[in-house]
Parts: sequence; structure tokens; C-alpha cells
Amino acid sequence: MKTLKVLYLVGVVFCSLFWTVGAVAGERVLIVKITELQSGPNSEIVFDKLTVSTGLPPVQRLTKDSQNAPYELQVLDSKGEVIYTQEFDFTRYIEVPLPESGSEYQVEAPRIPLKEPEAVLVIPYLPEGVEIRVKVADEATPPAPVPSVPESSYQPADPAQEGNLYILLIASGFSGSEMSIFQNTAQEIKDYLISKEPFASRSSNIIISIYENTDDLGCENGCENIDRLTCCNSEKVMASAAASGHLYDEIIVINNTEIYSGGGYRDHGFYKDNSASTYCIVYNGSATNPMSLHEFGHSFGDLCDEYTYDDEDFSYYDCANCRARCSAWRSVSKGCQLSCDARSDYYRPEDSIMLTLGIPYYNLPSIHNGLIPRLNYFIPDVCATEEGVAYGLCKAYCEAMDCDSDTFKASDKACIKIYDKFVEYTGREPPCEAN
Ligand SMILES: [Zn+2]
Repeated sequence: MKTLKVLYLVGVVFCSLFWTVGAVAGERVLIVKITELQSGPNSEIVFDKLTVSTGLPPVQRLTKDSQNAPYELQVLDSKGEVIYTQEFDFTRYIEVPLPESGSEYQVEAPRIPLKEPEAVLVIPYLPEGVEIRVKVADEATPPAPVPSVPESSYQPADPAQEGNLYILLIASGFSGSEMSIFQNTAQEIKDYLISKEPFASRSSNIIISIYENTDDLGCENGCENIDRLTCCNSEKVMASAAASGHLYDEIIVINNTEIYSGGGYRDHGFYKDNSASTYCIVYNGSATNPMSLHEFGHSFGDLCDEYTYDDEDFSYYDCANCRARCSAWRSVSKGCQLSCDARSDYYRPEDSIMLTLGIPYYNLPSIHNGLIPRLNYFIPDVCATEEGVAYGLCKAYCEAMDCDSDTFKASDKACIKIYDKFVEYTGREPPCEAN
């Protein structure tokens, strides 16, 4: 049984800076930090901080995730009517990067539970909204007041395109004079991620932006006494993303250190709508690219580590790439090897980046059972209604070869050949052309 109450409300902050400058793209947003405090068997939900700022919330989609999240933030007007809701789940763990290759194999802790599970939500600021509360099952926290702020001028941002996934790369700890270093690293990560499946096949719908942030994001190495673990201040990261003026569904923080380190937050809820609050962090060095793919696998894909921990005190949470039986992914993986994540009795598929950074790609179970279903929420699969051979031809034409776009990746001749085959099988044009 959970008891819900507002323990305290600190730091109602009004960022007046942006009002006077007025140059930040976006509207007013309310940044809400919510934490879950454990007190014995009970948990208490606490609003830590409410900040009104200028910027953009994560991309709001017309179609909401059909999977219900366990928690809902509600904004109430003066009559007590709910005028806005945002479902969410708490971030409960940060994943520790795997040991650096060549170093002595030591797995002191594969993941660290957050002492206080947290959720940082960035939602539109509604002038008529006077209170917020969190609803869980049939209970709700007592409402907390929303600060009221004066009208301001702002630059409307470009609207998001439905059907795109927006990833934002944010600088942490780079000074103004170091931004060219940040830009190089960010561009490399961008090129690397987009070259890997399942992102490569959807590359025309994945928009990666780079933000030269100079605000302190509170990122520190040696978090929890683990040299290679970096933790950041999530509220500052989300505030920076909001103020960037870029559209974002997902965030990767690039921390200015050459020390092998990083981290990836996981909520285990696999709830897609509020995806940005689980982000990942990478360092700036020789393993940055593969580390970003691995940590993004945790924070975006909710994938498990495929190596086994010596210490099984760590609880296992269901994920696409660990299974109790090999038959679970027989259709997409021939490989099946004993031990995966915190379960020595579970199986992992063929080797992949979630096992070691030396293998620079995700395996097929991770792609087909984890990453693609998640991508499909952001980038709907135009071929979903096709079957068998027609599905394969559709995927080749519309995605792999990208024949329908101006940036097609195959020759005109190859595209025409696949087009004709699709028409021969179905009597119709490929769906991406028909749209
Ligand atoms: Zn990991």
C-alpha cells in the first residue's frame, strides 16, 4: 500500500532571464521534479521543485502510448478540473558502463538503484493551471500550487513532424572555446548511431540535433564510488534540453572528460510517451561511439546487459534480449547462450554490443523485439500491414533503399525493380508511394 502525500515543496523558481531576453525558441514550460521516497514499506511522492522557464517540452504526439504508465501528473484549474495530464514512470536505476576493454574484469556493480527514484517532466505551462498532483491507481497526492508568472513574448518553435524520432546531443562541461571539440564528438556519435540498425533503416525519420550547452548539468564521474559511472543532475539536463530550442524525444549527454565513464538511466516501465527523462551519458574518448550505442540501448530500448554479474543480488527486469527459453526468439536468432544480465539461468542471443563494446551492433532479438517496437511508436512502420514477401519488398523499397525520398540510398534502376516486384505481388503501389 502506498501512502501519497506532499512532503515539502522547495525552490519554486521563476526564471526571469528568458523573459527579458525573449530569444529562446519555444513557449513557457513547467519543469516538475518528482521523487519517490521510501519510508519503510510505504512510499511517498514528493514534488521537489517546480520551475517555470521558456523552452520546449519533449515532442507531444497525437497518438499516445497505448500502454498505461503507472503514474499520471495532472494539472488542475481553479475549479479543481483536470486540464492537462502526462503519464510517466519513475527512473529507478542507472546502468554502469561495462568495464573498459583490456582492464581487469571487475563487475563491482552493474547498475545502481537510485536512492530516490525520480521523474523530471517538462510540460506546457498553462496560465489557468493553478495546482498539480500525481495520480496512481485510485489515489492522488494532495495538490501542490503552480507558480504564476507574467505573460511573456516568445518565438514559436517549428512544429514537430509526426513520424520522426528526435534525439538531442547536449554538451556538458565544455567551455565556449572547447565547443569545436564537442561538435566533432557529437557529429561522430550522430553518424555512428544512424549507421547502426535498426536506426539506419529509418534514418530519414531520425533527426539528431546538437546543442552547445554551457550550463552546468551537474555531471560527475566516480558517482556511487564507481570510477566509470557518471551521474548528472536530471533536472538540469531536462531544463537544458527544454531551453535548447531543439525538438527532442531522447537525450544523450556528452560529458567533457577523457576518463572512460558514462551511464544510462532506465525506468523499466518501457513507457514510450515520456521517453526523454531516461537519458544516457557518455565520455569523450576512444570508446565513446560504441558506448553511446550500448547506453542508448539501455535508456531508449530498455535493453539488458548480456554479460552476467557475479553477484546476483541485482534484481532482474524483463527486457527483449534476455529470455528464460531459447524458443522465445527462435525466429530471429540462431544463437542462444546461457546467462544474461542478473540471471545465470536465462539465455542471451548471439553476441552483441550489449555484451561487449567490441561487437559494434545490436543482435536481432534486441532489434526485432525491443528497439523496433519502440521505434514504431515514434516512426510508424508504413509496411506494418503487408505480409510475407510483400513486407520484405516494402521494407526494402520504403526504408532500406529509401526509394520514396529525395535522399534515396539505391540506384534508380534498383528502386524500379523492387517497385515492379511489389506491384506484381500485391497489385498496388508500395504504401510509402501511395501516401
Ligand atoms: Zn550496460
